[in-house]
Amino acid sequence: MDDKNLYEALSYAPKHVNDIMTEALKEAAFAYCEGYKHFLDVGKTEREAAAQALAQAQAAGFVCVSDKDTLSAGDKVYALNRGKAIAFAVIGRDSILNGINLVGAHIDSPRLDLKQRPLFEEESMAWLKTHYYGGIKKYHWTATPLAMHGVICRTDGKTVHICVGEDESDPVFTITDLLPHLSQEQMQKQLSAAFNAENFHILCGSLPMGGEDIKEKVKFGVLSLLKDKYQITEEDFTSAEIELVPAAKARDVGFDRSMIGAYGQDDRVCAYAALKAFIDASGEGVPDRTYICVLVDKEEIGSMGNTGMRSRFFELFLSELAAKSAGACDFLTLNQILSKSKCLSADVGAAFDPHFPEVSDKKNFAFCGCGILVTKYTGSRGKADSSDANAEFVAEVRAIFNKNDVLWQTGELGKVDAGGGGTIAQYVANLGVDVIDCGTPLLSMHSPFEIANKFDAYMTYKAYHAFYLSK
Ligand code: MN
Ligand code: MN
Repeated sequence: MDDKNLYEALSYAPKHVNDIMTEALKEAAFAYCEGYKHFLDVGKTEREAAAQALAQAQAAGFVCVSDKDTLSAGDKVYALNRGKAIAFAVIGRDSILNGINLVGAHIDSPRLDLKQRPLFEEESMAWLKTHYYGGIKKYHWTATPLAMHGVICRTDGKTVHICVGEDESDPVFTITDLLPHLSQEQMQKQLSAAFNAENFHILCGSLPMGGEDIKEKVKFGVLSLLKDKYQITEEDFTSAEIELVPAAKARDVGFDRSMIGAYGQDDRVCAYAALKAFIDASGEGVPDRTYICVLVDKEEIGSMGNTGMRSRFFELFLSELAAKSAGACDFLTLNQILSKSKCLSADVGAAFDPHFPEVSDKKNFAFCGCGILVTKYTGSRGKADSSDANAEFVAEVRAIFNKNDVLWQTGELGKVDAGGGGTIAQYVANLGVDVIDCGTPLLSMHSPFEIANKFDAYMTYKAYHAFYLSK
């Protein structure tokens, strides 16, 4: 071996997809992304994404786990948690007591939620008050068309579903912004202070209704329309979950269509990959090891609540699988299963943006086109709030990816002390499971138009598929 070959054999740098590009790979990645874009368009909220996942799984023959008394190898089951989180399992040939393979993603995204008493009238216009959800840059959300999705739960037990602004013929909503001509003072403010989220009011009407005895005629007009269309009154907003999201659909980006631009790719790019790989694998015969896909809510606000990863939902599902397939679900058994299980925390990471090189260590940052991003630890201020995957497990994952031609790269969320963030990994790790963050790198993460490279999205799918079926 000459020095050049020896150097190449000894040194490491992630490959770029353009180094291994073939027509077949391009076709496969682009075809995969057509399904992904559809998933983005029909699943803009956690409830809609969970419903989509459920429909796809049911079409693939999955049944509700509570409908089964016992489980045996090859059985395909799911559990839905309040319509906002969902878990699926394929029972393997080996006993579940030997552990499971898990891929976990989240299906909530940053957005604006309506307050409990949102509606008011000012200057003969009707407005809805909001409270933002998750990490947003506020200037992204003004003067742009927004769609309204969600549920209103009435006291008669009925739930009204709302989706306005997605169809071409629908009206949309918006938050107004100050014209530049009069923005001298606003322009001097710090970005964090220039946009007051308390003033994030959704413009929702301007036509009056009623005679002189009605003080707020436009509000009356809106309430009257809501009554006609949804059979609700103003009080019903107090038991509603209504989310404002960008009204646009997922689009190809670039002359060559090599990227996808859309709202909610954090984390639906991973959630879709986890789901699609799961369903595809479930059609490829009975696996050795039981594998599970879990899609959860509330990651963007810390995984709290009974639909987030910190809830008991996953443990409950696993206990039910153990009870029905191995006849045991006591505390010791459950914890033994967890300690023998492994998980990919399927979440996005930041991709290198050449316009903001100052936030990254280029040798330890993800690049668009270099495949799925493997992040050993997240956190901030010296890895705080990170689970930091065990090196043994990282090696195992690396071996699975290499064996299955998965293009992968490593990367941290920014250079040391630049900021940071977390995922569901730490909560899975706390259960005793070996876990590492593995997901698609994004540009413009948490913006209304996040960018993913189609090959990275496809490699994410390939990675999860290989991991589900690994021994
Ligand atoms: Mn995420
Ligand atoms: Mn996020």
